[in-house]
Amino acid sequence: MLNFKSISFLCIMLLMISAADAQKRTLILCGGLIDGTYGAIQKEMTIIVIENEIVEVQKGYLFATTEDELINLKDHYVMPGLMDMHVHIESQYSKNSYLNRFVKDDATTAYEAAVYAKRTLDAGFTTVRDLGGSGVNVALQNAIRRGLTDGPRIFTCAKAISITGGHGDPTNGGKEGIFDFPGPERGVADGPDECRKAVRQQVKNGADLIKITATGGVLSVARDGYRPQFTEEEITAIVETANDFGIKVAAHAHGDEGMQRAVRAGIASIEHGTMMSAETMELMKKMGTWYVPTISAGKSVADSAKIDGFFPALVRPKAISIGPKIQSTFSKAFKMGVPIAFGTDAGVFAHGKNAKEFQFMVEAGMPAMRAIQSATVNAAKLLNMENKLGQIQPGFLADIIAVKQNPIEDVSALMNVSFVMKDGKIYKNER
Ligand SMILES: [Zn+2]
Repeated sequence: MLNFKSISFLCIMLLMISAADAQKRTLILCGGLIDGTYGAIQKEMTIIVIENEIVEVQKGYLFATTEDELINLKDHYVMPGLMDMHVHIESQYSKNSYLNRFVKDDATTAYEAAVYAKRTLDAGFTTVRDLGGSGVNVALQNAIRRGLTDGPRIFTCAKAISITGGHGDPTNGGKEGIFDFPGPERGVADGPDECRKAVRQQVKNGADLIKITATGGVLSVARDGYRPQFTEEEITAIVETANDFGIKVAAHAHGDEGMQRAVRAGIASIEHGTMMSAETMELMKKMGTWYVPTISAGKSVADSAKIDGFFPALVRPKAISIGPKIQSTFSKAFKMGVPIAFGTDAGVFAHGKNAKEFQFMVEAGMPAMRAIQSATVNAAKLLNMENKLGQIQPGFLADIIAVKQNPIEDVSALMNVSFVMKDGKIYKNER
């Protein structure tokens, strides 16, 4: 028989069980800890995670109770999940990429994108900014959020916005009549009014930020690779419209004139920045504009251009001349003090190889710790997530990775990530 006493006893028991459940702690013992802001490795530290949040970071190795989950990373270097601010998660370049625009359907793109997302997460990248695809990237973002498939936390622009015939016009190179004219609804806009409409449409489609192609680009089937592609008036209309939605604008740019227009108009980041002048660097410092270098992309397109038939004839000379320049521009920009956020353009090369960029950054003169910070605390600022991502501190989301070798001594250690936790859940544990 249930009387009042036994019911209240049951209730108390249930409350205790749920409280114990909610408070289940995961203790991560870290041989070395890079917390994202402190400029050195801290030895023998313990991180306490409850659910998806870091609740405590303590000196020394804490004792675990039988209730706690213990993760022993005493022989590892632990750091915040890495963040790549420039990927194209839907696709990966190959000889067939130009043909695929005519034959590949969205469902196939989605299956492939899920594989690329998993590879990216396994490589230690727990957050990425997707800078342009077909819109499948929005569906993938939602699928990952819902736990239907594994991948990094995605912030996406959905589809990049371009001028007619510009770097992001998806119909470039097609013979007349194959494609409908792509208007602002499909990311191709001329004049401030169409630009405003294009921004609103991408937001409607689920974009978290706007990407524009402010100059020509390497991989589009168009002759020019660096000249300006929007007027300053058009970019201003884009930035103002995006700001009304509380979101930022990223600008692809190789040539200096297009960069200057974009920076003056108030975009948040310059992508690639290949021919960036000292004057533009100063302007970016003054405006607080981030530089996302993507050295990997430049090097990989220059390499692919050596293979006969890999790129269409229009693309090959652009890849050879523009590609290799990014690393020296990065070196100058870093020395001048331009704010730098890590980005690779993964998709132009194989997903999961994102961490190679760290080697290129260190080669160009950036200390390894600063390179790691560009992919953690700096990237979080660019995403307006600096209070939740990019650091191992109480109150931050539990995005935590570990590597076996000391990445400050040899940054290539980041190519071999053996432990990945995202949002408090372990996705990789190869110790
Ligand atoms: Zn890109």
